[in-house]
This record gives sequence, structure tokens and C-alpha cells, in this order.
Amino acid sequence: MKNTNYTAIELMNMENEYGAHNYHPLPVVLDRGEGVFVWDVNGKKYYDFLAAYSAVNQGHCHPKIVDALIEQSKRLALTSRAFFNSKLGPYEKFITEYFGFDMMLPMNTGAEAVETALKLARKWAYEKKGVEKDQAHILVCNDNFHGRTTTIVSFSVDPVATEHYGPFTPGFTVVPYNDVEALEKELTANPNIAGFLVEPIQGEAGVNVPDDGYLKAAYEVCKKHHVLFIADEVQTGIARTGKLLACQYDDVQPDVLILGKALSGGAYPVSAVLANKDIMEVFQPGQHGSTYGGNPVAAEVAIAALQVVEEEKLAEKSYELGLYFREEMEKICERSPIAEKVRGKGLMNALIIDNSDHKNLAWDVCVKLGENGLLAKPTHTNIIRFAPPLVITKEQLGDCIKIIEKTLRSFE
Ligand SMILES: *Cc1c(COP(=O)(O)O)cnc(C)c1O
Repeated sequence: MKNTNYTAIELMNMENEYGAHNYHPLPVVLDRGEGVFVWDVNGKKYYDFLAAYSAVNQGHCHPKIVDALIEQSKRLALTSRAFFNSKLGPYEKFITEYFGFDMMLPMNTGAEAVETALKLARKWAYEKKGVEKDQAHILVCNDNFHGRTTTIVSFSVDPVATEHYGPFTPGFTVVPYNDVEALEKELTANPNIAGFLVEPIQGEAGVNVPDDGYLKAAYEVCKKHHVLFIADEVQTGIARTGKLLACQYDDVQPDVLILGKALSGGAYPVSAVLANKDIMEVFQPGQHGSTYGGNPVAAEVAIAALQVVEEEKLAEKSYELGLYFREEMEKICERSPIAEKVRGKGLMNALIIDNSDHKNLAWDVCVKLGENGLLAKPTHTNIIRFAPPLVITKEQLGDCIKIIEKTLRSFE
């Protein structure tokens, strides 16, 4: 059954002809989604194992989130922050209590929230720490991914993300990930460091899971040197890794928390920065903002999205199902000559493919997975990320493991 007037080929050609080629999508044209499933324009059904880079933790078109979106859109969508609105205050109270911070600053996309955190750290350094004008420095990690703005790509180490985008924003130093000694060395060498920006698990780098205790130790050396510990949980947050926040594995409450993606469950772009008052109070009227940030629709959608996480116990589910998934995948890796290993936490996992004989193997596996009814995408040529919506059931996940196994076998 056709759901649009165009064929899949026509739709792909239109994107190729009229759209900038800044993505390289798998040849699947999606038209509809519900829970863990998406359907293409020909009506073929797939398990979605990308979940919009973990924006759709709550599942596609979650009725509670969609209702919040529709109801608030009909009532009042946007006023800007030139006026108060009836939804922002309750949202700010809700989200700060939910994550245990004094205050929040609302933005729209993940990159904007990261930019906000960087500005916050710099301003804090000048006004609270006493760093001299224009000397503030921020430490970031090797293989980081924090978004696509000019400043954020300034400290990316990925040549694809940076080439021909210079000149870059100064004031950032890259330290190795999962290496507290290297971090401490930088902190000791430079008294002008404002913050340390880190992903608790590196998502885009290929689900790089640091050692247990790394985040805690990094947090403690930051404290010792009076430096803000800034956690980018845009991808790891909101139950994806089997805890509400991935930092909770190490009992760390960051000084600055960055959220995005699943904060809206995929219904709307909503991001936020959370911090306590002694930090957040450095922002005064006019010094930072966003036209759409904190709009009533975003507020209602985010509350609904966070309520779903709690009501449906998605963190607990993600934790349990993650154990099951890795256990089963490990068995597959043991006997498969092309599946090297699986790593991850909760339902944020990656399969490492041995592509030594065939460079594009991971891509080809993903195309075949699609044909077999499961959508996933390779990152860094030989890594396939598996991150389904957290509303997936154990039975469905078992079904997916069978699809993955069958697909891998067809390449052996
Ligand atoms: C996706 C992502 C971002 C950027 O979010 P956008 O909404 O795409 O701007 C930032 N940080 C991390 C860790 C991400 O995964």
C-alpha cells in the first residue's frame, strides 16, 4: 500500500537534487512510525535501531507526548521570552526537581545547549573564579562529538567535521578520553581552566565506554582545581544507558548538565542546560537567549516526555534489556568471523565489525539489516550502533537479535 504520491526512488531523487548532500542516508524512505517500528513508503515495516540518534527513547509518536504537542499548539505556541508564559515556570520547576538542580536554561537543539554550557563556563570563570579577560580555557576529550556549530567543531578532532571550516574558535584543549592522569596534568599546568566538557559514553565516536570510576575521578580532579565538570548527556541521558543519566553509574552529579534529543521524545527540538544557582546566576538579562527556547509547546512536550520515562520505567527497562542484548550478542560474536565484539551500557550498544577483508562491510550489513526489517547505521566505517527505542519489549528484542544473527550469517 502506497502512502504518498511519489515512489521511493522519486523521493530519494528529490532529496538528492534539491537538498544539500550533508548526509548519506541508507536507501530507505520512511513515512510513519509507532513505538519501536517505522514503515517506509511502500508499507514495509522495520524495527528502528537508531531511534533518531536516541531522540526517540520513548518510541515513535508516543500518544502522551503527541497529545501534549497538539493541545499546547492549539492553545499557544510561541511568545518569545519578551513575556512570561504560563508553561515555562512549571516546566522549569519540574525539570530541575527531576534532575536535582537549582535552575535551567531552555534551548532547542543539542548544539545550542552545548554552546550555552560553554558560554556559561567561560562567564563563570571570569566572574566567579577570577580568570583574567579572554584567558578562560575549556578542556574537551579526544574523539568528542558535541554538535556542528563553528565553535563546537573548533575542538573536534574529526577531519570530516572540521575541514575548510576554519578559522576556529580558540580556548579549547583536547585531552585523551578515559585518562584521568592526562586530565589532571592539564588542570595542574593551566590555572585558567573554566570547565571540562565530557560525554559519559562517547556516542558518535562509536559507543566508547570509559572505565568504571573514570567520571568520578575526573569529577574529583575538577573539584580539586575549581573547574566545572560539564556532562554532555544529549545522547546518553534520559534513560538511554540504563540509568536516568549515564553519570549516575559513577554517582556523579555534574556541575553543568546538557540535555537534548530525548528531552522531547522526538516530537520537537527541545534542549536544556541545568546547573545550580551559584553557576547559573552569571547569566543576566540580554546576555544569552533564543527566540524559541522555553516556548510553551517545548515546555509541555518535555514534561510529557520525562513523565513517560518515569511512568514506563524506561531506565530500568533499558538496564535489564541491555544486559540481555549484550549477553546474546556476545554469543553471536563468539562464533561469527565478522562480528568482533559488542560494547555498551543499557540500550546504547555498538557492534564492532571486522572489515579487514572488505572495507564497506558494516555499510553492507546495515543495508541487509534493512532488507531484513531492522534499521541501523554504521559509524566510523566498522561500528554499527544499536539503540532502539526503550519501549521495546524483551520479545521484540529477541526477534531483533535473530534478525541481526541471520543477517551476519549471510556475509560469512
Ligand atoms: C547529537 C549530539 C549533540 C548535538 O545535538 P543536535 O541536536 O544535533 O545539535 C551534542 N552532543 C551529543 C553528545 C550528541 O550526541
